[in-house]
Amino acid sequence: MFKNFMYQKLMRRIFKAYLSVKFGVNEFEIEENAKCLCLSPHQDDESIGMGGTLAKYNKNFTVICLTNGAKGLKTLPKEEAVKVRCEEFADALSKAQISDYKILDIEDRDLIGSYEKFSVIDIEDYDYIFIPNLIDQHKDHKAVSILLKRLLEEKKHKNNLKICMYEVWATLALPNKSVDIEEYIETKKSMIQAYKSQIEQRDYFTPIIGLNMYRAQQLNKKYMEDFTMLSISEFNKLAEEIY
Ligand SMILES: [Zn+2]
Repeated sequence: MFKNFMYQKLMRRIFKAYLSVKFGVNEFEIEENAKCLCLSPHQDDESIGMGGTLAKYNKNFTVICLTNGAKGLKTLPKEEAVKVRCEEFADALSKAQISDYKILDIEDRDLIGSYEKFSVIDIEDYDYIFIPNLIDQHKDHKAVSILLKRLLEEKKHKNNLKICMYEVWATLALPNKSVDIEEYIETKKSMIQAYKSQIEQRDYFTPIIGLNMYRAQQLNKKYMEDFTMLSISEFNKLAEEIY
């Protein structure tokens, strides 16, 4: 009963916050010299949510995986799990020809309590920061928005910096930007398949590609990745309403 009440309260707040954002999906192309940062809570979220966009604009991107994967493989000791997951991450990004990446030394499921380690991220030069959907129900995914909000308050960043939310375990209710990834769909598939240890546990390959096909329908294309792009003030307002 209480849970139900809290859920309804949260939904009202989300929709109130969304009312101030201008929507309508447009095809989106990243400018040639734009600097982009992809924050991925775990190894594989970047490929699931925006592997095609990363492959298409590989020269523009820095990718930071925020956790080390220690708890991602229950059958292995932590050090071995970290090794496997970090190798898979490097393999996936090499398929997109991205060499600018790093992994923070934070254990998965502990992200929310790890601001100190998160705060080493320098955001001064970026034009776009990509994060998972703010209402994704995975606790590490939600944590990215909360930690980023604090980082934006404390660190220098461009005034016109845009925050772009991508889809992993919660689809976007109101996407406003869409990237055509038809030419990069095979690369995206190979990026997801690089995560052998994960797709062995759960077959998310087909549903993710299906989502990209579904997103493409609205613009009469074949495969697209959708995002909700927000200004800093829109992002802060939404984050304040929800968290
Ligand atoms: Zn994740």
